[in-house]
Amino acid sequence: MRDESCIFCKIANGEIPSATVYEDEDFRVILDLGPASKGHALILPKNHFKDVCGLDQETAGKVLTLGAKIGTAMKKSLGCTGFNLVQNNGESAGQTVFHFHMHVIPRYEGGPAMVGWTPGKADPDELAATAEQIKGAL
Ligand code: AMP
Ligand code: ZN
Repeated sequence: MRDESCIFCKIANGEIPSATVYEDEDFRVILDLGPASKGHALILPKNHFKDVCGLDQETAGKVLTLGAKIGTAMKKSLGCTGFNLVQNNGESAGQTVFHFHMHVIPRYEGGPAMVGWTPGKADPDELAATAEQIKGAL
């Protein structure tokens, strides 16, 4: 379940060196080359999945637990007081590497704002209509 042309397949399986903070049978966790903050890490499954929609249940079931483990280690070791788990799916969502990965981004007191949005406004009828649209597709 690897894609020979995928850089994250090569990194996850050790063919390309990386700053690895964790490895097991299923995952490698590396430091991001363009970190949003000190310690910014990427959880990479060793198998190739394009995005979250392609993940098998077993991998999906492990990835959040691993995110919590890495984030907890960052708090103990780096002095961050929180962390974001971020995961982009599709170009419009900001995905640039099409091998599933989860970002673990340490957050420091007084650090820059990131991973945010400007809240919009929606009335209850609009919310109900939107909820029906999504429900209809499940
Ligand atoms: P995304 O935009 O969610 O697809 O995230 C891709 C991330 O991978 C970005 O934060 C990049 O900085 C990071 N990245 C791309 N190539 C490498 C690489 N060779 N080693 C480490 N991080 C990388
Ligand atoms: Zn891949």
